[in-house]
Amino acid sequence: MSTELVSHTTEELIGLFPPGTRPDADGTLMVGGCRLDDIAEEFGTPAIVVNEDALRQRARDYLAAFRSRWPRADVAFASKSFPCTAVQRVMAEEGLHLDVAGGGEIVTAVKAGADPAKLVLHGNAKTDEEITLAVEHGVGLVVVDNFDDIDRLERIVPAGRQQGCLVRVIPGVEAATHASQATGHAGSKFGLMPDDARRAIARIEASPRLRLDGVHTHVGSQLLNTEQLAAAVEPIAKLGTFDVYDLGGGLGVRYTYDDHAPSLDDYAEAMVGQARALLPEGSRIIVEPGRSMVGTSACTVYRVTTVKRGQIVHVAVDGGMGDNLDVSLTGQRFEATIVNRVGGGETVTVVGRHCESGDQLVDGVELQDPKVGDLLAIPVTGAYCYTMSNQYNGARRVPVVFARNGKTRLVVRRDTWDDLLIRDVD
Ligand SMILES: *Cc1c(COP(=O)(O)O)cnc(C)c1O
Repeated sequence: MSTELVSHTTEELIGLFPPGTRPDADGTLMVGGCRLDDIAEEFGTPAIVVNEDALRQRARDYLAAFRSRWPRADVAFASKSFPCTAVQRVMAEEGLHLDVAGGGEIVTAVKAGADPAKLVLHGNAKTDEEITLAVEHGVGLVVVDNFDDIDRLERIVPAGRQQGCLVRVIPGVEAATHASQATGHAGSKFGLMPDDARRAIARIEASPRLRLDGVHTHVGSQLLNTEQLAAAVEPIAKLGTFDVYDLGGGLGVRYTYDDHAPSLDDYAEAMVGQARALLPEGSRIIVEPGRSMVGTSACTVYRVTTVKRGQIVHVAVDGGMGDNLDVSLTGQRFEATIVNRVGGGETVTVVGRHCESGDQLVDGVELQDPKVGDLLAIPVTGAYCYTMSNQYNGARRVPVVFARNGKTRLVVRRDTWDDLLIRDVD
């Protein structure tokens, strides 16, 4: 058992679910005013359920937290954390920019109705095809990660046009997070060390088809310490005076009872505090939240398929690493509850249906009297779950359901059995 378990109150557990979640009269959890058992009935399981109002409110709160402190601030939603058109559309409608990681997310963002001028393209291995897509759509900012990006842009941007660029700089910050989530250390595959960044800046400034708008950095993900996040500012401030400083994303969220995530205000205050100290007045700052924008607005509902009482009580559900790869990839801990018996009673391990021993959803969690046929919900699955959903073991990828004011709306359908065959051409 990886964690020592203590009992938690119903309120504490519900507090991990999307804001506004509450039990109905019979104790069944309701998200966005919709009973999770009704959602399971209508859309099947597993299903990702998003409280749309909570999602929109978070976007507004983010923008307000930064603009109230630094008027030329933009928030670019890191699409890769939940890259479906419905979520990107919500972000665009709420006035956010979109950070897109590669061509596929340009396609979904454009389909979502986002203004291409408000897209920021990332990638450490951009192809000619992706740069072409960005240029053709008029993507506002291309984040140059390496010198080959500059070669490609110079070849692909047509004469008479100027592509706005940021140069991605390795901040040299060792993030206290899982190794797969640290991106800002010397030796990272992302971005350029400061001396190389200076050379890239000089090349872009000398290029008639490129326009250097500024610099970019990103320290890592699921960071729970504002000082570490704010440490992004100094390395890029040192590179000179620019119009744009993109400070990346990385703010962590509260997945479990033991996590203490900084509030949006504390985060914005720390970032803007450093900006006031180190960046030119009147410059534009961009932040790129992913996890902290979408993580807490969703939960995943599963059906319990087996309860095996051996040395460990294994509660197996009809999903797993096909809809939540974060556990196997980064060891992220989640909490769980039976949806109509919220709270603890018995310590179990929640496992998925996939053919891997590592396919665990929660290693050690208290459930109340888990039985076959129960619905089980895991909170804080808005970020990096849908996006890494896959068809391993013939899994049909999960649907996404928006819930708002007691009404549901299916925004991504589940794969059909036929979808599993659709690409097999021979
Ligand atoms: C992943 C990523 C983000 C978002 O990170 P979160 O931890 O989800 O906030 C922002 N910017 C870049 C460049 C990224 O790679």
